[in-house]
Amino acid sequence: MREELRKLPGVDRLLQERAVQALAEEYGHDLTVEAIRQSLGLARQGIMAGQDCPSTDELVEMARVNLEARSRPTLRPVINATGVIIHTNLGRAPLSAEARAAMELAARGYTNLEYDLEAGRRGSRYVHAEELLCQLTGAEAALVVNNNAGAVLLILTALAWGKEVIVSRGHLVEIGGGFRLPAVMRQSGARLVEVGTTNRTYIQDYEEAITEETALLMRVHRSNFRLTGFVHEPTLGKLVELGEKRGLLVVDDLGSGALLDTSDYGLAHEPMLQESIAQGAALVSASGDKLLGGPQAGLIVGRGDLIAKLKRHPLTRALRVDKTTIAGLQATLLHYLKGEAEEKVPIWRMIAAPTEAIEERAMDWAERLTEAGIAARVVDGRSTVGGGSLPGETLPTRLLAIQVDSPDELARRLRVGDPPVIGRIEDDLFLLDPRTVLDEEDEVLVEAIKRSSL
Ligand SMILES: *Cc1c(COP(=O)(O)O)cnc(C)c1O
Repeated sequence: MREELRKLPGVDRLLQERAVQALAEEYGHDLTVEAIRQSLGLARQGIMAGQDCPSTDELVEMARVNLEARSRPTLRPVINATGVIIHTNLGRAPLSAEARAAMELAARGYTNLEYDLEAGRRGSRYVHAEELLCQLTGAEAALVVNNNAGAVLLILTALAWGKEVIVSRGHLVEIGGGFRLPAVMRQSGARLVEVGTTNRTYIQDYEEAITEETALLMRVHRSNFRLTGFVHEPTLGKLVELGEKRGLLVVDDLGSGALLDTSDYGLAHEPMLQESIAQGAALVSASGDKLLGGPQAGLIVGRGDLIAKLKRHPLTRALRVDKTTIAGLQATLLHYLKGEAEEKVPIWRMIAAPTEAIEERAMDWAERLTEAGIAARVVDGRSTVGGGSLPGETLPTRLLAIQVDSPDELARRLRVGDPPVIGRIEDDLFLLDPRTVLDEEDEVLVEAIKRSSL
């Protein structure tokens, strides 16, 4: 063993190897030295355990594998074959080609982010998406912040700090990822006044709770669960009427923020931004990366004087969006303005995808896998919208079903492969839904399954 240990070259000796110098050029000197040290450490452990001293080539190879693993980004593209269109764990909405191009352009160089080109002086980053949002929703003014959680926090802090906000017990939701309305309310410094019961809240409940201290009446879209049966709640219009009578603002947290009508696609109707504005909400908030299909952002639309007040609040600075977000959001909103959202915005393309087209892709995958000796066929299934919208609502789809002895093992292999592929298991079948797989991913997906099949 001693002798074997003595055969191990030193770090300096290895650094003189041509192959190691090539590694140092690619990964940098310091990282390479660290990888060499770790390879030598591993070799030493191996020798202690009775193995032979590895060759120089083997040591270099160990260092190369080590460097590759260290420099691979932890955030990687994943193929979403789950059939959940807005999959929060998989990064919510994929973006349109135009949105991606706009973000790349903004990232590449300088922009007029906060520069008024006409006047030749400082401008505001908030002008860029504002006009589009106003045109699309009919609102007087708009503001874009980091996400919808931030939007709600900002609205409550700026308009209700130290005051009361009346919310129905049926609206005290938890969205996931730590967003619980009562907690956000506490953080904002506003006092939550709960009214009604979980299943039934009447307009009189709101009315009776109004005091000198009341700042806002708030509605929160339930988003990720449904209440059915013996239920009642006043419409937004009724709340607005009450607000007007008592001189109070009505704020509507919509969450998903649809601009297109989901009921046109065989789904339940998801409340839309333009509807809340039309019904008279003073401010409406929504996410940019749920049913809007854009980058992560929080959208606030509504009355001009209130938006102006929000813009002046110090929290707005802490929640501000960066130039690439603004660029991607603007490009996404433009699709709606041009009436091409259904073709261009990926999540709407997925929602609108005809079953025949999905079946065609599933059949094509199945054929290619069967040729490779894999037991694959096409079965009926359901896709879901996800992202905390339209709970329980599904779209009919066609799935690729793979039959193997251990679907769990196949799922694992596909997850840890490159690129990772995420599907689901039902009734001992491994299922992949073409609806959420981007067209250009077909080839890599089939290859990944071939590589991972047992
Ligand atoms: C999703 C959601 C939020 C949180 O939005 P993020 O953009 O994820 O921060 C807040 N309120 C409602 C009603 C939601 O559906």
